[in-house]
Amino acid sequence: MDATNLLEADRRYLVHPLHHPADHRQPLVVVEGKGAMLRDADGREYIDGLSGLWNVNIGHGRGELADAASAQMRRIAFASAYIGATNEPAVRLAEKIVGHAYPNTAAAYFTTAGAESNESAFKFARYFWKIKDKPEKTKIISRVHAYHGVTLAAMSATGMAAYHKMFGPLVPGFIQVAPPYPYRWAGNEEPGIGAADAVEKAILTEGADTVAAVIAEPVMGAGGVIVPPASYFPRLRQICDCYDVLLIADEVITGFGRTGRWFALGHWGIEPDLVSFAKGVTSGYLPLGGVLASKRVHEAIESAPLDRRFMHAATYSGHPVCCAVGLRNVEIIENEGLVERAAVMGRRLLEGLEELRDLPVVGDVPSLARRWRAGSCRAFGRGAPTRRSVIRSAWRRL
Ligand code: PMP
Repeated sequence: MDATNLLEADRRYLVHPLHHPADHRQPLVVVEGKGAMLRDADGREYIDGLSGLWNVNIGHGRGELADAASAQMRRIAFASAYIGATNEPAVRLAEKIVGHAYPNTAAAYFTTAGAESNESAFKFARYFWKIKDKPEKTKIISRVHAYHGVTLAAMSATGMAAYHKMFGPLVPGFIQVAPPYPYRWAGNEEPGIGAADAVEKAILTEGADTVAAVIAEPVMGAGGVIVPPASYFPRLRQICDCYDVLLIADEVITGFGRTGRWFALGHWGIEPDLVSFAKGVTSGYLPLGGVLASKRVHEAIESAPLDRRFMHAATYSGHPVCCAVGLRNVEIIENEGLVERAAVMGRRLLEGLEELRDLPVVGDVPSLARRWRAGSCRAFGRGAPTRRSVIRSAWRRL
């Protein structure tokens, strides 16, 4: 590869996500990957600690997925799933995902990415309330620090101001409230309860008859890997039920095993009304995402009169090749026990990270298992181990 020529052409022709030329003088050019390892154009090896962009759940270089794509492309690369048509990989993948999702999950709609999944979930929610003859229920509540994608409505639900600054105004009817962020919680109440109550306050301020849904990542990802206290989601579910508001779980990162469960809200014993997924459904080998509808939402779609049909679509919804790759990917996750393995490896990683807790630069080591205690955010005490010895011992454990 002629790297100089490539980088010159890159600078000239390609606009990157989150683009600024100042950040792009020496881009990493990855040319190969195997398992958790990457190799760049200069032959250097890296551990892919982020797993791509939190999406390569089965690891790099899996020939089985290339074979699944190739076989499906040779058979039929594109077949519409529009009204009156379907294709086998889309049906089989929907069936599989529903089987691994929540007890109340009934059906899947396919998209091509996470933002489109959230856009679709907002429309599922609005559609549901229109079918229920509550057409004013259209607003969406999200949380500060949330990341839901960058298309206009998903950006408006995203609670990170940097993503809004150059693209405003936001879509009307999107409201953001305090997140369940124990480390930075300023209130006196327990942060899980306090943050759930912030949602209730927003519902009451806006009027419950105008709110369609709350959207929440089970563990906030791009906003800082913020793990909620155990009290948050059960209380949020209660609030949603009390005010007739749907709960959308954005499981674009947490879906397909990343938290040691197929989908994450099971950690707190609750079920959402809608789930957005993407990333891990194909381990990033091809673009695919979707929305999972609970029984009551699915019933609303199934029982609609002809003139109130679900007029939502995309050319590539249920794309046969993407779904064939998704199906093979899910089979690999099943056959290799990767969800259970993620739980084991997560515990091991956490034990190692716990040893770093007392370093001055470490503010917190959040975990799904931890209960919040007032004042539990660490203070760096005397007699703590040195930075170097802690790092060395943590690495040994990993
Ligand atoms: N939701 C969450 C929780 C995400 O982390 C992301 C992407 N990082 C998205 C939505 C958007 O997904 P995409 O980039 O595929 O549109």
